[in-house]
Amino acid sequence: MDKVTSTAQHTWQQAVESVVSVLGDDDTQEILTGLRPLGSQGDTFTAEAVDRSCAETARKRCGKLLEGALVHHSGGSIRHLDITVARSGQQELFPTQRISSRPNRSTSDRAALQEKYTFDKFIVGASNQFAHAASVAVASQPGETYNPLFIYGGVGLGKTHLVCAIGNDVLDREPDTRVVYLSSDSFMNELIAALRRDRMDEFKRRFRKVDFLILDDVQFLAGRERTQEEFFHTFNSLYEARKQIVLTSDKFPKEIPGLEERLRNRFESGLIADIQAPDIETRLAILEKRAEIDGLALPSDVAMFLAENFESNVRELEGSLTRLSAHASLNGAPITIELARRVLKSFVDNRTARGITIELIQKAVSDYFHIQRADLLSKSRSRHITHPRQIAMYLCRNHTDASFPVIGDRFGGRDHTTVIHATQVISRRIKHDPTLRETIDKLATRLGGSE
Ligand code: ADP
Ligand code: MG
Repeated sequence: MDKVTSTAQHTWQQAVESVVSVLGDDDTQEILTGLRPLGSQGDTFTAEAVDRSCAETARKRCGKLLEGALVHHSGGSIRHLDITVARSGQQELFPTQRISSRPNRSTSDRAALQEKYTFDKFIVGASNQFAHAASVAVASQPGETYNPLFIYGGVGLGKTHLVCAIGNDVLDREPDTRVVYLSSDSFMNELIAALRRDRMDEFKRRFRKVDFLILDDVQFLAGRERTQEEFFHTFNSLYEARKQIVLTSDKFPKEIPGLEERLRNRFESGLIADIQAPDIETRLAILEKRAEIDGLALPSDVAMFLAENFESNVRELEGSLTRLSAHASLNGAPITIELARRVLKSFVDNRTARGITIELIQKAVSDYFHIQRADLLSKSRSRHITHPRQIAMYLCRNHTDASFPVIGDRFGGRDHTTVIHATQVISRRIKHDPTLRETIDKLATRLGGSE
């Protein structure tokens, strides 16, 4: 185990940071500088102490906590921490200088905040103007204006970006502010780790002495009673001390299932700001900003193509640009509209496939059974036509919004009862007939309708 894997190194680093954030005193920092990770074997992680006295103090002072943090940050694959003593002559391997001159706690808290997410990189448009203004206000006057600030909006619309920007802005102004950012999942995991290690006092202390708490994705608290209870107390003590609380969610407080009434009331007691999907101008501006940050030459027709095709999720919009620029740079070619069409074809096709039409279904079914589309619409009652016809009607019913009468009409002016009958026959047979099931699955996949 002389070569520490980067995963072990990373897990160790995170664990050390967690311990520092709980017991941020100089003594603990000092002890931690005397330890270095060796790696893990099975579920045991081994760290080496610079000498015997350091090993003993470390075990006594923060051994359990460090172990708990390793369990947590390894996702449970580590269960034990073993602290051994280094052989003499190995002392220069210890990163004493680096850790002891380690940043103060606000910088270690800062690690969780994504530093790249700042206000100047956030594009403001009609869809997020209000949430942005509220965020700026809260960053400049924490605890005074809107407390709590509750930001809600769909996936990939910039909630995390915005709340990290608040945290970063606060730390830029007042570097000593104790800003804590975490997702409600991490809050729960830390709580579980603390409970398991019998470290609830430390857990409580840690959260109750923050100045600015940002809890991302509170919808994950749904149904987690113990976590909600603990968060309720954390919330109250911070709120009473006039500390700022910022929350995000993909739903409005009322719509979060399994959220206790008292928490819901707290969440609704401050300012609620929503983020909607960006309009086309905002999407174009986001792409331009992204291109500028990444130093890409993005022609306006390509920007338009991307903005038109990725409407409802900024992460996907940005992802499309990243994908495109990766292709361009691999081929040593510029970003052009032809390249964009080619590279993003499958994504774009997938999207239009969701707009499955009756015609598309009729075409797919007749191709599959090697008959003519006209046969499906004809009066033919021969079995090799009626069977595909029933399948096609069934698919139309399940993959389009068309009503029975409309479907009937589009199948050569048949009565809606025929369509109902066909759908029932197929639904019933599918349950007992694996071949039919497979045929339907194949057709649905061809249509892009199987999710
Ligand atoms: P959410 O937390 O709502 O799921 P994120 O904050 O993770 O969304 O945003 C997804 C990606 O989109 C991030 O890379 C973020 O920087 C970017 N993004 C979202 N909205 C904007 C915006 N208005 N301006 C610039 N980038 C944005
Ligand atoms: Mg997020």
